[in-house]
Amino acid sequence: MNFNKIRSMHFPNDVYIGHDAIYNVTDVVRKNLKNGTVLVITGNKTYEIAGKKVLELIADFKYKLLNVRDASIDTLENIKKEIKNCKIGLVVGIGGGSKIDLAKKTAADLDVPFISIPTAPSHDGIASPRASIYDGKSVLSVEAVMPTSIIADTSIMLKAPYRLAVSGASDVIANITAVADWRLAYRVKGEEFSSTAAIISEYTSKELIENSSMIQPGLEESIWLITKEILASGTAMAIAGSSRPASGSEHLFAHALEILGKGSSFHGEQVAMGSLLSMYLQGGDWKLLYSTYKKIGVSTNIYDYGIDKNIAIKALSIAHRLRPERYTILGETDLNESVAEKALKITGII
Ligand SMILES: [Zn+2]
Repeated sequence: MNFNKIRSMHFPNDVYIGHDAIYNVTDVVRKNLKNGTVLVITGNKTYEIAGKKVLELIADFKYKLLNVRDASIDTLENIKKEIKNCKIGLVVGIGGGSKIDLAKKTAADLDVPFISIPTAPSHDGIASPRASIYDGKSVLSVEAVMPTSIIADTSIMLKAPYRLAVSGASDVIANITAVADWRLAYRVKGEEFSSTAAIISEYTSKELIENSSMIQPGLEESIWLITKEILASGTAMAIAGSSRPASGSEHLFAHALEILGKGSSFHGEQVAMGSLLSMYLQGGDWKLLYSTYKKIGVSTNIYDYGIDKNIAIKALSIAHRLRPERYTILGETDLNESVAEKALKITGII
């Protein structure tokens, strides 16, 4: 049989992480802007935290600043209208999550390079090729582009609320259940599998679990550690060419909560709860995950987020239907509502 396997992998060209990394933005823009205008997408708060500084550093280039709000299809349309008469050569996204998503999707639509400048290590989207966009009903994970460059300044990200940082840490810790689901899909469904991507992804989770006592409020090293593992997780996704190494049944549960009612919970917090359920159903050490989340200060109890018990039960019982092509442990389990309730109770989520 002839060998005909082919795969494409897209990695960022330049990654700067650490104290005062922001000062590299001038060189990064110079390197990536062939011609036209730099489109800078940020929000009001993130403008104050980092946007202002970035504009100072790229003052020699022609730029257009857009202060936007939520990552929705409407906002994307507004961005398109605003730049109708500009020739955009590069997009810079500065923010915690939604601004990065909007900038990433805009760059993908314009087919220009994208520079990711996260102001918080709040989820793994700061270094992934996918964007979460609200379509008026629920949040969709859409294909965008891998950032051409990532500038993660730990002194800036330290200023973000600690809750955002540990939310990002949880998103990475949960890679362990995502990989277990991927291995299962490989065995049961013959899904394409990359051992390299799987091992990197598992490693990021284990690093955070083993070093969880280093994750504390006000510590720049904590931000460094979380961001480093988010970047490595992005590498695993780039190798796999999909979000598989970082998104399994725990993300399906998070997605179900997004649809049914997530209360005040952040993405990483939903994923943390999801990973306890996944690990329990996979027969793994969910108690280790539980104690890790507790140690870093992430609640895995729905009542802390104002989520109703019946919503959590429903979320777990419908999660497997949300992305049928993504086979996970939920497809192996006969998850009627009473089984779901039992799993939620045992893991302390309800
Ligand atoms: Zn995630």
